[in-house]
Amino acid sequence: MSAERLEELAANLADVRKRIEAACRAAGRGVDEVALVAVTKTFPASDVRLLAELGLTDVAENRDQEARPKAAECEGLPLSWHFVGQLQTNKARSVAAYADVVESVDRPRLADALSAAAVRAGRTLRCLVQVSLDEEEGRGGAAPASVPELAGRIAAAEGLTLGGVMAVAPLGDDPAEAFARLAAVANEVRALYPDATMVSAGMSGDLEQAIACGATHVRVGTALLGGRRAIVR
Ligand SMILES: *Cc1c(COP(=O)(O)O)cnc(C)c1O
Repeated sequence: MSAERLEELAANLADVRKRIEAACRAAGRGVDEVALVAVTKTFPASDVRLLAELGLTDVAENRDQEARPKAAECEGLPLSWHFVGQLQTNKARSVAAYADVVESVDRPRLADALSAAAVRAGRTLRCLVQVSLDEEEGRGGAAPASVPELAGRIAAAEGLTLGGVMAVAPLGDDPAEAFARLAAVANEVRALYPDATMVSAGMSGDLEQAIACGATHVRVGTALLGGRRAIVR
């Protein structure tokens, strides 16, 4: 069973790597400029282990209730855990215990809560500002105009380092246009904080467009692990 799954994941990984390579080539970028983050939400810890076996180093989850036990089951593996979901401040302490990167920081109160939690846990969290590329708010993400200030708050916070920016392309929008807007915000942040080089953008359906627009990290779930069953929250 697990040998079969390993084979399946290996084949999917080869396909995804081919897509990343082709996109880098088309954009005139080096393939080592784009890191692959496997989004393992809804999939078991056994899959995370297999991905680690295949050499993946970064995994992402979007719900604390699911991520915390999964990270515990995978303790000891050479993995960085990314948190990419909407996050309530009362979950900051839990997330700070296992996450290495929090990609979905979208408001000052959350940055403050993560800072306090990281200090308390004696850990350092790399934080990205999630940028809303939607006209309307609500699905998470800071409005582009508020991003530099939030970035500054993270950069100044104890226990946090500012990694850069993250975004999800809005549904029904041209991802290339959305990622171009993200690139402008990323440049603005990097001009202020030169170490904030991460641009996390692109998923299974739009990683090519994201790489064309300067993504340094693509977050891939479905194309690596297969379809997810709908989960009831
Ligand atoms: C689920 C998820 C992904 C991966 O999406 P796929 O389309 O399955 O590749 C990427 N980013 C975030 C924030 C997600 O929640």
